[in-house]
Amino acid sequence: MYAVRFHGRGGQGAKTASRILGTAAFLSGYQAQDSPIYGAERRGAPVSAFTRFGREPIRERGGMAHPDLVVVADASLLEDPAARLSDGITEQTILFVNSPLHAEQIRAQSALPGRITTLGVTEIALQHFGQREAISALLGAVAARLAGLQQEPLRQAIARELGDLGVAPPIIERNQTVALMCYESVQVMARESVALPATIATTFHTPVYESPSRGTARISATGNSVLRETGGWRTFRPVLVADKCNGCWLCFVYCPDGVISMNTDDRPVIDYDHCKGCQICVHECPTHALVAEREQEGGVAWTAR
Ligand code: SF4
Ligand code: SF4
Repeated sequence: MYAVRFHGRGGQGAKTASRILGTAAFLSGYQAQDSPIYGAERRGAPVSAFTRFGREPIRERGGMAHPDLVVVADASLLEDPAARLSDGITEQTILFVNSPLHAEQIRAQSALPGRITTLGVTEIALQHFGQREAISALLGAVAARLAGLQQEPLRQAIARELGDLGVAPPIIERNQTVALMCYESVQVMARESVALPATIATTFHTPVYESPSRGTARISATGNSVLRETGGWRTFRPVLVADKCNGCWLCFVYCPDGVISMNTDDRPVIDYDHCKGCQICVHECPTHALVAEREQEGGVAWTAR
């Protein structure tokens, strides 16, 4: 199996490049798999994508511990620990960096092992498309060349993947042309198998059951901004009418900020320092035991000042 890990920033096309590579491998007769990983990321946040292909069925899934080839779509990621670019890279790993700098200059700037090759893909995209974002086909082409795939399946893969994204045929053709230029331009390095360690140390975590009052996301949990008192955002506050409450905990579950806790009698206690007044609990309470009362300051309603 040949394993390729792409690193990019949200919106740069690393995911599409991984799909182009996977499709090119599939069209070349390999078994292929590609998948991206990103969380609630925004444009510019580090993202990864993985492409695996080989002659045998691919049973490995998810993250890629030992890539043969790492494609770095943005050289700024070399200095970003959150990108985890160095994970599993050995002396044998081929490391492609999208940069107009030479490999030696990149090596001087980063402590990464691996055999580095570079090409200024963004500069090429600017020159031919006038857009720095239009690099997915070009990255896919570079990866295909470094992974040993042929041009024709690459051309077809670009057409399929960009076509699926709704890109117009003339633009797909330009992408194919420029991608093949990149294919020809990147310095090829001999493929070598990554030497896997004899055993891979694995640490299993045993999940610990936590009661709902601890297991639900809470404003007071570690890492949350308990110092940011969002109670000042409130124009109406939820107030409990105790004799209507049946102790169902729904308000606790629905509060998006985790500022409702339940007392030993199963009655809600609201942290007004952090209740932002969204009124979701008021709307969700099945017995209307929570009512919205207008906030006052010095006896004057906020909304009437
Ligand atoms: S008003 Fe919103 S933030 Fe405040 S307790 Fe109710 S659901 Fe939570
Ligand atoms: S949702 Fe209403 S009835 Fe249920 S616990 Fe909360 S206040 Fe009480």
